[in-house]
Amino acid sequence: MQSNRPLPITRDLVLLGGGHAHALVLKKWAMAPLPGAQVTLVNPDAKAPYTGMLPGFVAGHYQRADLDIDMVRLARQAGARLIIERAIGIDTEAKTVQLKSRPDICYDTLSIDIGITSALMDLPGASDHLVPAKPLGRFADSWSALIEDAQLKRRPLNIAVIGAGIAGIELALAMDHRLKELGISGTVGLIEAADTILREASSGARRKLISELKHAEIEVITETTVTAFTEQGFCRGPDDALVPADFIVSTAGAMPHCWLSETSLDLEAGYIAVAPTLRSTNTPNVFATGDCAHLTHAPRPKAGVFAVRQAPVLFENLCADLADQPLRNFTPQKSYLKLISTGRKSAITDKWGIGLSGKRIWRLKNRIDQAFMDQFRHPTNMEIPDLPARRASGLDDLYAAHTHQCGACGAKVAQGTLEKGLDNALDGSLEDAAIINHGATSQVFSTDHLRAFNQDPYTLAKVAAIHALGDIWAMGATPDAVLAHIVLPPLSPKKQAQMMREIMAGAGDVFSACDTKISGGHTSNGAELTIGFSIAGNLDHAPITQSGASPGDCLILTKPIGTGVLLAAEMRQLADGDDYQAALTSMTRLQSEASSLLRDHATALTDVTGFGLAGHLFNILNTSGVAARIDLSDIPLLEGALNLASDGVRSTLWPSNAERAEQMTMTASPLTDLLFDPQTCGGLLATIPAAKTAQVFEAFEAAEEPIWKIGDITQGAPHIEVQ
Ligand SMILES: Cc1cc2nc3c(=O)[nH]c(=O)nc-3n(C[C@H](O)[C@H](O)[C@H](O)COP(=O)(O)OP(=O)(O)OC[C@H]3O[C@@H](n4cnc5c(N)ncnc54)[C@H](O)[C@@H]3O)c2cc1C
Repeated sequence: MQSNRPLPITRDLVLLGGGHAHALVLKKWAMAPLPGAQVTLVNPDAKAPYTGMLPGFVAGHYQRADLDIDMVRLARQAGARLIIERAIGIDTEAKTVQLKSRPDICYDTLSIDIGITSALMDLPGASDHLVPAKPLGRFADSWSALIEDAQLKRRPLNIAVIGAGIAGIELALAMDHRLKELGISGTVGLIEAADTILREASSGARRKLISELKHAEIEVITETTVTAFTEQGFCRGPDDALVPADFIVSTAGAMPHCWLSETSLDLEAGYIAVAPTLRSTNTPNVFATGDCAHLTHAPRPKAGVFAVRQAPVLFENLCADLADQPLRNFTPQKSYLKLISTGRKSAITDKWGIGLSGKRIWRLKNRIDQAFMDQFRHPTNMEIPDLPARRASGLDDLYAAHTHQCGACGAKVAQGTLEKGLDNALDGSLEDAAIINHGATSQVFSTDHLRAFNQDPYTLAKVAAIHALGDIWAMGATPDAVLAHIVLPPLSPKKQAQMMREIMAGAGDVFSACDTKISGGHTSNGAELTIGFSIAGNLDHAPITQSGASPGDCLILTKPIGTGVLLAAEMRQLADGDDYQAALTSMTRLQSEASSLLRDHATALTDVTGFGLAGHLFNILNTSGVAARIDLSDIPLLEGALNLASDGVRSTLWPSNAERAEQMTMTASPLTDLLFDPQTCGGLLATIPAAKTAQVFEAFEAAEEPIWKIGDITQGAPHIEVQ
């Protein structure tokens, strides 16, 4: 008999940095994962840029999205956990990585591909007035805003590019091209500390590039050391004279990340020294690649092309290390073809001293760049295996939905099914939490659990804790005691302990922020990770139920909706990484303050979760015996949710939630579809007497808590009119 239980995890591979080599390793892992190993990628952003296309973006030939490798999508394809964080240290003895704002993570094999940083960022005023070419996010936003502002105000621009290497020259030419194309007057200048420029280029390419700079009238100032940055421009040594500039970008001062020097890794001039296998020269189980590594057997200049070429050997060696097998060597090529763009759609080659140029070279560069990026742009096919020929009837209808079953609240049992199954078995009304009366005092009690929707136990524990607390906050209560119930996926005993530590840390962060802690619980082994909490809450007043709404009350909401569609889209590799990250941030926002601000004013209160905004509003309407009018244009949405709804993306629970449409007056649209979107850690939905609305909104504003008025309670049988 064959078991279809997933294999236990025995080893952890941690990839630090979403550089080019790691992006390609993840791509390979997606196609051929190593059984028994799990991968974690740590990167400060949800997207990593491909710098080869950066000058083309600046020149206006590419859109911003064309340059981004979406790490969220890539992680999903590879079944990897993604931690949006910055590593700040490595303990090679304990085999842990320290992260900036969450607990350490463990590794068995570690690979580092974090690129380089710029020494100029340490100069006075740099963080406010210097824009390095990387990270791309800030650079791209600043560049777009600068251009827009200059066009709007018809003001000239004075741009300084610090560093006259190939990258700096490509950027200067691209900026100059863009300004001229948009009819923005101004200057672009190149500032170089050395006495000559382009020392790394061949004489042919050098000659051609200098001629391009002359033709574009880009001033090149050599032997100039920049000492500080101000709002007016930059200061140059030795007398700190101010050189005016409206925008200062830098590609200079390349240096290794300082924190590496505090690790016990062998370094060469600050770069991680690696053997031909790309493994650290002094630390087994640690590999390094790309710009942050120094190839001790064959030193090479820092260029993305080497990171790309290292990827296949790195992948093989990481798998070999995890499986205790021998490693392969990497032999870098001696030289490589540089394709340098010159602003307009033209480029110059640089190899073997030859510098060819023209539109054909740009087309070649564009083809190579697009082919590289195409590997990351499209969702991979998530094939559903065929069912056996002999099967029970009814299975076909459920099979596709079962295979793509959403996690979190999308996995909740439908409200109609629940009502049929419970069949009045419960004692009392269906409030968010059970109310337990002890003589004069009362307590509320609730339980909730979530099926994992990603691979990160720390974040999942936070989300599950906040989700469970939602029921307590919705009763206007304060959490008092917590029990955890956890189902662990198949893991070795060592990995079980590590995962439990991460779960307890994530949940602990949430509960300690609410002045409570976990007092006990139960853990068992199962097929997949599930985290839940049972919480008792204290009341120092009558509980706020769902039955007190009256006609004339105004309807308020404290979080935007759209988590269901974003989680469903992420699972199918359709969500934008930044939008998904913003949804996680919204989910992990506590509602304790919002709950206490509503406590004395709400006539009815609930939290918006699995049954969607419409479903939970109906719970208020049914218990209060009233109707509601909501205004679609006032309903806050998470970024990306509406586009995904327009594309037909739906959570598993959506169809049953949408049955509520029968009791609603509305013209169906993607926006109304979001009223049925199941929410995980959704906001509080409350009714407030109209006379108190201004006071409540002022209190929320003073506490910097978001709040939206989305409609009103009206007279009549339970019904929602959507305007
Ligand atoms: C304008 C410009 C144009 C260029 N054009 C080319 C070109 O055409 N061809 C070429 O070969 N090279 C080019 N380069 C050089 C190329 O960008 C680099 O050599 C290449 O990006 C190096 O790749 P990498 O994998 O080492 O790291 P990177 O691409 O720099 O990626 C490193 C990643 O690690 C992340 N990271 C950093 N610190 C941490 C941390 N502490 N914890 C976790 N993650 C971290 C970063 O956010 C980033 O996502 C260009 C550079 C510039 C500036």
